[in-house]
Amino acid sequence: MNLLVFLSNRCNMTCDYCFLDLNGHASAVLDEKAALRALDAHVAKFAGARRVHVTLIGGEPFIHWDLLMSLARRLHAHAGRGVSASVVTNGTLATPERMRALAALGVGVTVSLDGDAAANDAHRALIGGGGPALGRILEKLGGELSGADANFTVCEDTAPALVRGFEALRKAGFRKLKLHLKIQERWTPGGLAALGVALDGLGRWWRAAGKGLELGNLGSLRPAGPNPHCDSPDPAYQDLVLGADGRFYPCYSVFAEPFSALGEWAVGDLDGGVDWKRRERLHEEARAFIHARLSRARHYRCPREAYFLARAAGEDPAGLVRSFHEADNLLGDALSRLLAPAGAP
Ligand code: SF4
Repeated sequence: MNLLVFLSNRCNMTCDYCFLDLNGHASAVLDEKAALRALDAHVAKFAGARRVHVTLIGGEPFIHWDLLMSLARRLHAHAGRGVSASVVTNGTLATPERMRALAALGVGVTVSLDGDAAANDAHRALIGGGGPALGRILEKLGGELSGADANFTVCEDTAPALVRGFEALRKAGFRKLKLHLKIQERWTPGGLAALGVALDGLGRWWRAAGKGLELGNLGSLRPAGPNPHCDSPDPAYQDLVLGADGRFYPCYSVFAEPFSALGEWAVGDLDGGVDWKRRERLHEEARAFIHARLSRARHYRCPREAYFLARAAGEDPAGLVRSFHEADNLLGDALSRLLAPAGAP
C-alpha cells in the first residue's frame, strides 16, 4: 500500500518533461502536524494486513529538510510494523551528512538522473542555469551512493543513449537503476524503433557487463499476464497520494494543474480522511477507459498516470494512453527477457 506524500510544490530545478505545477503559483507546503497524524492513520489502517510503503517526494523534498526529517522519524518509529519509507530527490541539496541521516532512519534514497551528462542535461536543468546539472549533483552527493537508487527517465530523444547512461550511473556508484518512460511522450514510429534497438543493445551490454546491477520498474519485473496494477480493482495496487495542500488524490499526475484547480480530483483531506469509495470510482473510470482502448491485454506498467495526466490537462487521454502503452510494452518485454532465469523460453 504505497502512500505518496508531496511535501511542497517547490523545486530548484526546471526539467522540461516535468509535468508538475511547480513554482508558478501560490506556495503549498504540507502541514507537519497534520501530516504526522495522517501517517499514523494510514499505518493504523493498513499495517499488519498489508506491506506499507511511504514515498516522500516534492517538488524537491530536501528544500524542506526539517519537515522531511520529522516525517522520516515518524515512519522509522513505525518500522517494526512493516512500514518502509523512501525519498525521491533531484540530489542537488544532498550532502553526505544528510544521506547518512536518512540511511540511519532506514529511509531509501532515489535520485532522479537520466544517464550520462549529455542525456541528463538535455532535459534536467537547474533553475538559473549555472552549468552542467549532472556533474554538480554527483559532486553534492559526495560519494554516498552505495545504497541509493537512480530513477532513470527515458525520452524518445535520449533512448539511443541507454547503454551509455547505464555505464555512467554504474560508474557513479548506483547499484539499482529504475527505468521509467516519460509519461507524456508521444512516441513516433521511428522513436519506437530506436527504443527497440537501444533495448537490444542494453540486453547485450547487461549480459556482458551488468553483473551486480539491479533493475527496477514496478510492473516490468513481473511475468507477463494480467497486471494487478492495471487490471485489479484491489486498492492495494493503486497509490494513494497526499498533496502538499493537505488533500488526498487518486494519482499525482493531476498535479499538472495548480492545487487551486484540483477540487474535482480531491478524494479527502487531512481532517476528514480518505473517501475510499470516491477514489475507487475514479480508478474504475480510468481502468474502463484504458481497457476499452487497448487491443493488447498485457500491461507491464498501467498507463493510468497517462490517463490522469491527460484528463487533468483537459485532453482526450486516448492518444497518450496508447503511446505510453506501446513504448512500455517494448520496455517491459525487453526487461522481462533480460531478467528471465537462464533457460526460460
Ligand atoms: S527535479 Fe523533479 S520535481 Fe523538480 S523539476 Fe525536475 S522532475 Fe520536476
